[in-house]
Amino acid sequence: MEIKAPRGVRDILPEESWKWAYILNVLRDTSSDFGYSEVHLPIFEHTELFARGVGDTTDIVEKEMYTFTDRGGRSITLRPEATASIVRLCIEHNLSGSGAPVKVWTAGPMFRYERPQKGRFRQFWQIDAEFLGVASPMADADIITLSIECFRRLGLRNLEVVINSVGCPACRPAYRDKLVKYFKSNVSGLCELCLSRIERNPLRLLDCKNENCSRITDNAPASTENLCGECSEHFAATIKLLQESEIVYKYDKKLVRGLDYYTKTAYEILSGELGSQNAVCGGGRYDNLSETIGGPRLHGVGFAAGIERIALVMEQQQCSFGEEPKPRVYVISHDSSDETVQKKVYNLTMKLRKNYIAAEMDLTGRSFKSQLKSAGSSGVRFACIIGPEEVRVNNVSVKDLTSGEQISVNEDNIIEYFKIFFEQKGCK
Ligand code: ATP
Ligand code: MG
Repeated sequence: MEIKAPRGVRDILPEESWKWAYILNVLRDTSSDFGYSEVHLPIFEHTELFARGVGDTTDIVEKEMYTFTDRGGRSITLRPEATASIVRLCIEHNLSGSGAPVKVWTAGPMFRYERPQKGRFRQFWQIDAEFLGVASPMADADIITLSIECFRRLGLRNLEVVINSVGCPACRPAYRDKLVKYFKSNVSGLCELCLSRIERNPLRLLDCKNENCSRITDNAPASTENLCGECSEHFAATIKLLQESEIVYKYDKKLVRGLDYYTKTAYEILSGELGSQNAVCGGGRYDNLSETIGGPRLHGVGFAAGIERIALVMEQQQCSFGEEPKPRVYVISHDSSDETVQKKVYNLTMKLRKNYIAAEMDLTGRSFKSQLKSAGSSGVRFACIIGPEEVRVNNVSVKDLTSGEQISVNEDNIIEYFKIFFEQKGCK
């Protein structure tokens, strides 16, 4: 029986992979311009890191993790997100030991056992950036601005930035109690899941998409009206920084985010292009995460954005992915049955490649006509034609496929010839 890929995973084929490379390059350059350094994280971690770090009342930990016992009897989980791992990395390698801020980013696949649908997969890619060790709202603004700048450089349009503050351990318990009280007096109409979460995690009810629940949560108390002085000032200062940079945002009192570790700022960036999976990016502050996983007090703020969703919006908005990497020269043979001719085709192609001129050759043994045809449809500018005569006089027939002109170039001058041509034309 033919073996197919598991449900919810995607192969990235050549026709798409160059677009991904473009996206990742833009993300890399933007993060670097904002002073973030790249880190590479393990794909799997101890289950406990996520159970404690992400929070055991979250969807991720309750039902979405790929967890297994390894041969040494340890409980291992394929990473469902990157923030907990980055904080672990920072603590483990004492990156913030001297009190210096740490700004890092990473990109790679994450794993969540979800119901696959448009923009939602079981293996998906995220870019993740984290700013650790700084309590100031400027760090929040740094992260939010970085995410917006990534999308601006990629050409995404009509995005909506929504923001809220979810408080801190000083003000959240009182707010939590208010919410529990409110929901307990409004139970009729709440969905099963929300009913089960009233006591365990009442904040999560606020982002339930069920219509009845949504009507009830519309009138629930807002966290921003229940913030302590410090959180309130932090929120106002963050908003002010966004306004000063002319960032258009919307305050959403029901935005809570799915992960337990958030404190103060929570934000999302949404696109109408994505249907019900409308978030391209989510992030916020998590000043207690480090302590939750056994580290020191460490402020943190960060974001994660889904690469598949970014690519989807870019396709739908017909954004540019730059130029598809293609050969510039196609080497074809006049007589593919002639071994010396074939050898020269091979050697010339390798010579071009080693001199940074992207070249392809035809190894199929097809007729000259069909080789020329595939050279034409590959989009290259030049075909280098080799036949017995070219071998004899050490020449290459260079055919300009745009003008149809053909000239003879001595093989010793061929690299020079193309270098001059491509530089003059400003081609890459
Ligand atoms: P959603 O509400 O769509 O489930 P989330 O709040 O679970 O998102 P985060 O954990 O904040 O998402 O992840 C950040 C980003 O990663 C999301 O905004 C989205 O772009 C992307 N993402 C999350 N889950 C998936 C998935 N299963 N498939 C593809 N992309 C995803
Ligand atoms: Mg989710």
